[in-house]
Amino acid sequence: MISENLKNIQASIPSHVTLVAVSKTKPVESLMEVYDARQRVFGENKVQEMCDKYDEMPKDIHWHLIGHLQTNKVKYIAPFVALIHSVDSFKLLEEINKQALKNNRVIDCLLQFHIAQEETKFGLSENEASELIASNEFKLLKNVRIVGVMGMASFTEDNETVRNEFQSLKKIFTNLKNKFFSKEDCFKEISMGMSGDYLLAIEEGSTMVRVGSSIFGTR
Ligand SMILES: *Cc1c(COP(=O)(O)O)cnc(C)c1O
Repeated sequence: MISENLKNIQASIPSHVTLVAVSKTKPVESLMEVYDARQRVFGENKVQEMCDKYDEMPKDIHWHLIGHLQTNKVKYIAPFVALIHSVDSFKLLEEINKQALKNNRVIDCLLQFHIAQEETKFGLSENEASELIASNEFKLLKNVRIVGVMGMASFTEDNETVRNEFQSLKKIFTNLKNKFFSKEDCFKEISMGMSGDYLLAIEEGSTMVRVGSSIFGTR
């Protein structure tokens, strides 16, 4: 059943789009079903849960942290995390850099933007991100690499609202690319789209979709 779901989703997304299988709250047995169907990118939103699953599962998995990250927990994921989707402050980026250096690696990160109507969502504004990237302090961080942007659309049935929010994230991406990263190929990811809206997100330029319940069932 789970592997059927996975196959259907894989068949519906173009090859340039990365599927992140969002496995939060699901047991390792369920993740292994997806792993056995050749899925290697998994997304988790809690540090402890991601570390536990990392310990138990094969080591060729790419673990993506997709949820809000507290600075005091960065050290636990720094040895192995493949991509952090949820960078929303300089302070957090500085800590990721520090822990990456300790582990002798460079950690890829996405800047998370606030694109939804809802008050509760975390994320930067375009101005805040521009200031962050332009700062001298940022240039000193050699062990983090900003490879793109992430956003969550409003939780609504209204497709036009969701589409507008995805378009605004795409626009932020393009502006930042032109202003700061035009010569760097690594700034290329737009992480947007979940179970309910990933096809819409791909239409609007998503390169990375984070799909949980459509693969694993409801939580
Ligand atoms: C849980 C979660 C998802 C996946 O949500 P589904 O609707 O189950 O696909 C995607 N992104 C983030 C940040 C999440 O926390």
